[in-house]
Order: sequence, then structure tokens, then C-alpha cells
Amino acid sequence: MAQGRLQGKTVLITAAAQGIGRASALACAAEGARVIATDINAELLQSLAQAAAAIETALLDVRDAAAVQALADRVGAVDVLFNCAGMVANGSLLDCSEADWDNSFELNVKSMYRMTRAFLPGMLAHAKATGGSVSVINMASMASSIKGFANRCAYGATKAAVIGLTKSLAADFVKAGLRANALCPGTVDTPSLRGRIASAADPVQAEKDFIARQPVGRLATVDDITPMVVFLASDESRFVTGQNLLVDGGVTI
Ligand code: NAD
Repeated sequence: MAQGRLQGKTVLITAAAQGIGRASALACAAEGARVIATDINAELLQSLAQAAAAIETALLDVRDAAAVQALADRVGAVDVLFNCAGMVANGSLLDCSEADWDNSFELNVKSMYRMTRAFLPGMLAHAKATGGSVSVINMASMASSIKGFANRCAYGATKAAVIGLTKSLAADFVKAGLRANALCPGTVDTPSLRGRIASAADPVQAEKDFIARQPVGRLATVDDITPMVVFLASDESRFVTGQNLLVDGGVTI
């Protein structure tokens, strides 16, 4: 039997119960990885565990510092940490309450600081022991320091921070065997996007508008994004670090 591209690797993913995180868990498992899929949604995690034998699940709220550290202590070294959790607070700066701003930074950025601080020592020790590299993949977006979008004030600010965090990690630990990259998708058809469309004043127009901003003429599916996750998790990307990887259907041509 052919070896999977992630054979022998342990991949830990946050917000893995639905959307891009879930599809990434399935894609990494299909490539031979042991996957630890974490989320706050127990029901959806259970259905994920049933979908693939190589997927273990753990309830984890990435805003809970003690729970994050307890998971890191329990799991030990991983080869790949995919910080996928994030949320969209809709609105311009004038719409953005302090609560929207703080919640966005808490989930989209501070969770990555927290997860990475908890898992990094084990990952670096693992890289040293094996002489290989370990990989942190941080979920950013094309809506960030890369490009401005209307009504994405807090979101764009947090995803720009993710890119800065990722580059600092890459710079600090490049000689220790760590690679850190930021994934920057375009508009992806996920449950949360469907929620944003449904809650718009005119949902039909909202969907048309989301599609119209994608030059390829359609929304991304989660399966358009997961090949980049597998690539960044695998040794095929061994010379890639500190980068923003855009998978945006031509938005930033
Ligand atoms: P989604 O929003 O459909 O699902 C999010 C998942 O996060 C859910 O399973 C939810 O239970 C989980 N979650 C929420 N709060 C959590 C917490 N505190 N701790 C742990 N898990 C939590 O997923 P999506 O649309 O695939 O988005 C995933 C990531 O991709 C986000 O960071 C998002 O910003 C980013 N992204 C999405 C798009 C898009 O168009 N969908 C584009 C670019 C970037």
C-alpha cells in the first residue's frame, strides 16, 4: 500500500468540528496522519470521530488557558499544530463595539498565542530529537494585511495580527526546526458563511455578492482549501516558512 503524505505525523487541529477545520482533519487522516481534532461542539466532534478511525477528538475551548495547557500536557509532542479557530464580527469601525473587538482578538489571535505557547516546547523537543521539522499553520485570511474588505474591521485587524504572529514565530524558531505559515483563504462555503448569508437583509443578494468578489466565479469549497493544509503539514513544504499562502480564487491577482 502507498504511504500517505502525512504517515507517522500527529496533527492537532482547533475548531475541527465543522467547516475548514473538519475537512482538514479528514484530509490529514486520509494522508495517514494521526489527527487530534478539537472543538467546543461535542456532537459534531463525535460524528467526525465516527468518520475516520485515525481521528481522535477532544473538547477544547481555545479561550480557556487552563484547558489548553491541560491538553498539551496530556497529548505531548505533535508534528503539526493547525490553529484554525476564528470568527467574523461584521461591521465597520463605527459598528464595532469594544466587545466585538475584544472577542475577535480573544478567539482569532490570543487563542493562537496560547495554543502555540502550550504546544511549542514539545514540538521543538520533538524536532530536535528526530532532526526533522515541525509545522505551525495559522488560519489567517485574504481579509487581513493583504487586502481590505468592507465591514471586516475587527476581522481584518485580527487576521493581520495572525500574519504578524506567524512571521515572528517563523523568525524566532527557524533554526530550531519549526516552520510557521499563515493560510489565507478566499470566501469558503462553510456553515459560518451560510450563517452570514442567512442573516443578511437580502440573503439572495448577499450570496451573489460573495460569489461576485471571487474572480473564478464561485465560492471555494472546503476541499479547495485542504490541499494547502496537507502541503503545509507535510515535508513537501520543508523549505516554506514565514509565508502567507493565499488560496483565494484570484481575488488578489
Ligand atoms: P466555521 O465558522 O463554520 O466553524 C467554526 C468552528 O469553530 C465550529 O466548529 C465551532 O464550534 C468552532 N469554535 C467556535 N468557537 C470556538 C472556541 N472558542 N474554541 C474552539 N472551537 C470553537 O468554520 P470556517 O468558516 O471553516 O472558519 C474556520 C477558520 O477559517 C476561521 O478562522 C475563519 O476566520 C477562517 N476563514 C474562513 C473563511 C470562510 O470564508 N469561511 C475565509 C477565510 C478564513
